[in-house]
Formats: sequence, C-alpha cells, structure tokens
Amino acid sequence: MTWNKPLPSLDADIEPFWQALKRHEFTLYHCKTCGAWYFPVAFCRFHKNEPLFGNMEWAKASGRGKVFAWNVHHRAFHPGFASDIPYVYALIEMEEGPMIGSNIIDIEPYKVKIGMPVEVVFEDITEEFTLPKFKPPATVAT
Ligand SMILES: [Zn+2]
Repeated sequence: MTWNKPLPSLDADIEPFWQALKRHEFTLYHCKTCGAWYFPVAFCRFHKNEPLFGNMEWAKASGRGKVFAWNVHHRAFHPGFASDIPYVYALIEMEEGPMIGSNIIDIEPYKVKIGMPVEVVFEDITEEFTLPKFKPPATVAT
C-alpha cells in the first residue's frame, strides 16, 4: 500500500521520538533530575535556572492515557484521508502528563468518550515513519 498522506516533519529535536516509534516504542521527553515528562521537547520547568538544566532524555513511556478532547472529521482535509472518514482526532492526556494529538482507532467514532482510557498502537506507514495511534485497551469493552 502506498502512503498518500502528508508525512510528519522531521525536526532534529524530535527525531529520536520518530526513531523510537519505528522500533515500536513510545517515548516522551523526560527530566532525569526530577522525573517530569514533556512532549514535545522542552526545558524542564523545575530546573531551567539551574545547572542541571540539560539533564533531559527521550525515555520509554507507558503509552497509556485518556481522551482529553476529541472530534470526528467527516471531511478529508487532504485527499489521502478520503478513505478514512469519518475519523476521530483527539487530544490524549498521557499517564505521564503530556498531551499528544492523534487518531483514535478501533472504535466507532461516536463511541469515543472524554476520559476514556486508550493505549498506543503503532502504524507503520512507510519505511521511514511509524505513527502513534490510540485505541481502547483490549480489556475495556466498547
Ligand atoms: Zn526537572
């Protein structure tokens, strides 16, 4: 299958995030000093004025979160999405705290609920890119 949708832009500071996704690992940016989590790259707000300022890394995260906000798209804003509509775009609040925007899959669009638990799944779209998408955990009946 050919990927006919836009690809994510590969900014250098977020490249490790995409490389981890290729390995089917979900990472978030992490302060090694105090354990705070961020997405995307940030300076730790607890250490920005201290010498420890640079003690940050991409670290494996749970991949679990809950739906913070969502909507259903009935129109493709890019021709590549035409066969997917209607699809759900959501903001997911990860267990570690950061928010990430992605699609909720494996559920009928209007059954998505705010606060619903979701977990990451990996969709390999090209040789270069794997997208993080989210679905209800297998243990939750939908
Ligand atoms: Zn910190």
